[in-house]
Amino acid sequence: MLGNEAKTITPFESKVWLSSPTMHGDELKYVTEAYETNWMSTVGKNINEVESLAAKKVGCKYAVALSAGTAALHMAVKLAGVKPGDKVFCSDMTFAATVNPITYEGGVPVFVDTEYDTWNMDPVALERAFELYPDVRLIVAAHLYGTPGKIDEIKAVADKHGAKIIEDAAESLGASYKGKQTGTFGDFNAISFNGNKIITGSAGGMFLTDSEEDANKVRKWSTQARENAPWYQHEEVGYNYRMSNVIAGVVRGQFPYLEEHIAQKKAIYERYREGLKDLPVSMNPFDAANSVPNFWLSCMIIEPDAMCRQVRGEQEVLFIPEHGKSCPTEILDAIASINAEGRPIWKPMHMQPIYRMNGFVTREGNGRAKTNAYISGGAVGQDGRPLDVGMDIFHRGLCLPSDNKMTAEQQDVIIRVIRGCFE
Ligand SMILES: *Cc1c(COP(=O)(O)O)cnc(C)c1O
Repeated sequence: MLGNEAKTITPFESKVWLSSPTMHGDELKYVTEAYETNWMSTVGKNINEVESLAAKKVGCKYAVALSAGTAALHMAVKLAGVKPGDKVFCSDMTFAATVNPITYEGGVPVFVDTEYDTWNMDPVALERAFELYPDVRLIVAAHLYGTPGKIDEIKAVADKHGAKIIEDAAESLGASYKGKQTGTFGDFNAISFNGNKIITGSAGGMFLTDSEEDANKVRKWSTQARENAPWYQHEEVGYNYRMSNVIAGVVRGQFPYLEEHIAQKKAIYERYREGLKDLPVSMNPFDAANSVPNFWLSCMIIEPDAMCRQVRGEQEVLFIPEHGKSCPTEILDAIASINAEGRPIWKPMHMQPIYRMNGFVTREGNGRAKTNAYISGGAVGQDGRPLDVGMDIFHRGLCLPSDNKMTAEQQDVIIRVIRGCFE
């Protein structure tokens, strides 16, 4: 079933992606340099350069280049001292890599509901979580889609309860809050250079810190935890998590273009906002007074009254088209039919089968019973809406094609197709 517009439009000849790598030429120069000087290893000039570029950009003392953002988060969880059975408060509406490293260490993620102002961890629900789980001493908070969360409020709650913060800035490199870059607010911080991020190495990530001791530990653990001895000597478990000097060459070539990518992403966001402004929808929100997002992904959310019926199971989805109304599924289908890529909002962790036994805290308190009732088809809120914020945004929201190589003309066509879904 397609919106009226989509039926009459010739699909784009080459696909418009959600967010794909954008290379500029310098990447190849640094990769070739690694090849020609034979530093085809996890040691070399590119690694040293990207570490200093990242530390300088975000404004921290040390950056340790790793194989992935997930590896950086794992190292952060180790540094925070998570032991089997320890509960950890986590962002709920995020990518699974934010929380899986807790599970690697035997920790138990407890999910904290989302707020509507920035689509990130709700500090009110976080305070509630400490009432229910007073022993927790660690929080993992992500900045979804490049939009900084309510950092001051989250930090105030953390300080009050003596908890440390792991900041997952994987999606938000270059975004700032009250003039400071994300990736500097946590006790332990991670960024990512995965292929779809604002700048990329094709893969890669970094651990960021002001602590020399922590940086040294991550350097050691990520290179198999070798002791200072003439032979391979080990006192601790190690990991093969260091960044390759080839990958670092790509990241090095990308860094000078971070601001350009952000400007392009911002223009995309603003063009959508303008083009959709008289529809019953809004864009993913941010706190304009205190933060500057990197606009990594443009998203939209449909007003409750303008939603046609949409039901999602664990693997499949159904919707009933209706005049003047639409839903994420209808819009994503229409966008796909013209050869462009959108995506549902990241499905909240508390709704994921793998974490269905884990705690989940909303402003009202324990949200777990309601979630399970909803998932089994029993409970919905007023006018058929889901019962918690994360579920609601997942139900009504979607990620729009946000590739920085998309032309204004292509974006106008996408906007027309979205408009057609509401006819
Ligand atoms: C991409 C991403 C990660 C993981 O980064 P990788 O480099 O892919 O391992 C972690 N958290 C969030 C929120 C992400 O979007």
